[in-house]
Amino acid sequence: MSQKNSNKLIIDKPKEKCAVFGVSCNDIGFSVTRLLYKGLIALQHRGQESTGISVLKTGGNIYTYKRKGLVSKVLNNEKLSQYWGNVGIGHNRYATTGSEKYSSKNYIQPYHFKNNEIEFSLAFNGTIPNYDEIKINMEDMGRIFVTNTDTEVIAQLIASIALGTEDWPEILKMASKLLDGSYSLILLTSEGDIYAIRDPLGFKPLCIGEMKSDNRNLYFVASESCAIDSVGATFLRDVKPGEIVHLSHQKDIHSELVLKAEKTAICQFEFVYFARPDSIIDGVSVAEARLRMGVNLAKKDPILLDPEFKKDAIVVPVPDSGRSAAVGYAKEAKLPYVEGLMKNRYVWRTFIMPGQQKRKSAVKEKLNPIKSVVDGKEVILIDDSIVRGTTTKQIIALIKDAGAKSVNVRISCPPVVSACYMGIDFPTREELIAGRCLKEYGSQNFIDQIKNTIGADTLRYQTVEDLKEAIGIETGLCKACLTGRYPLKSVEKITELERSITSNRC
Ligand code: SF4
Repeated sequence: MSQKNSNKLIIDKPKEKCAVFGVSCNDIGFSVTRLLYKGLIALQHRGQESTGISVLKTGGNIYTYKRKGLVSKVLNNEKLSQYWGNVGIGHNRYATTGSEKYSSKNYIQPYHFKNNEIEFSLAFNGTIPNYDEIKINMEDMGRIFVTNTDTEVIAQLIASIALGTEDWPEILKMASKLLDGSYSLILLTSEGDIYAIRDPLGFKPLCIGEMKSDNRNLYFVASESCAIDSVGATFLRDVKPGEIVHLSHQKDIHSELVLKAEKTAICQFEFVYFARPDSIIDGVSVAEARLRMGVNLAKKDPILLDPEFKKDAIVVPVPDSGRSAAVGYAKEAKLPYVEGLMKNRYVWRTFIMPGQQKRKSAVKEKLNPIKSVVDGKEVILIDDSIVRGTTTKQIIALIKDAGAKSVNVRISCPPVVSACYMGIDFPTREELIAGRCLKEYGSQNFIDQIKNTIGADTLRYQTVEDLKEAIGIETGLCKACLTGRYPLKSVEKITELERSITSNRC
């Protein structure tokens, strides 16, 4: 097994790949760089591989600084003082797939584009499944590419369209109509304007905020509202699916809709796992949605009808991902919520442990059951999702070794049976325990098979209907990894094999 896969045993979850953050200020004597730092720190959970910023003092040039590493390491005090400007954008990136070359500096964002005609910098969260089609067309027209990323394809597309018009909203509208993908994108122009674009189906979150005082006005755009809170600004609203928002250092925020979607495909995993619980996405509090997921699990759980079982039952979350749902479950079930697993925060994900025995001990070093809490108890273990099932299996074994009478697993996300082609780092269907078991044992038996494989006494998942109810977004969620039905035309054309070769997106 590769070192990369051994890491995934430690954190067996899909990974969001990127975060974007931008600030525009009307006072050219004010530098936004420290605000970019704060916003990117708040969004660190969406990408830890690399970080970068592009800043500009209006009337000057765009300067970009980006490196591998966490925000606090890359954007140290020296760099924050050195890079100065009243307008700027930033990006955090996560990349696990592909070879080492995909971790090279070329792939770190923001992507600063400059030729004789145009200069801009862009930061992007998402994926463009039809990017190779667009790339081939542009290569036929003589464009030369230096990376294999959809970020560069977007940049080159924008530069080609800009040959025909200087009107930025028009350029971005035309570009959006050609991109069939899931994306939230921010772009800094050399004139000092920021444009924020969310794809017409609204897969990825994007929101705007403001901070006004007598001296200056500041406008913000962020992947999640927690970043707007972190800089002390006021959250204004989400960027609508299909909307272009212009954050101007001269005027207020203004916007236009490129394409109004009848239905949206907002990623359900943002609510289940990716987003920070203190964020609000499309009007829904992530923490409250997770709480409702736990309530829904308890409402229909037949195990709670057994008074004998309930006498010794406790609700234990898998930290940190299962906490909010466990609180909801315990409240609805009227059972004690107990922290029965101790997490060592200092075992970081670069932890490399080849070999089965060593991997087992690696999980134990990261998560240790509290014997006095679980000994002699009927444990109801709550987590947000099961991906490969390897970590869940090891956690169950640890809790049983610590003396639990039984371990009953409850999962707030329905079974994840299909890969994601919309910009999330996901295993293939064969690697997903639910995908593999569904294929081998059929829809009637696959949950039982998963239960046996992970060694749980009982196993229940949230239903798709209950998940929809808990999130409560009426215009529509993407549930492709739960149903295998993909909302993008270009994804339908692409086989899993092709995707596994080309999944180096951000
Ligand atoms: S397939 Fe799953 S993870 Fe991917 S965008 Fe859709 S809901 Fe999110």
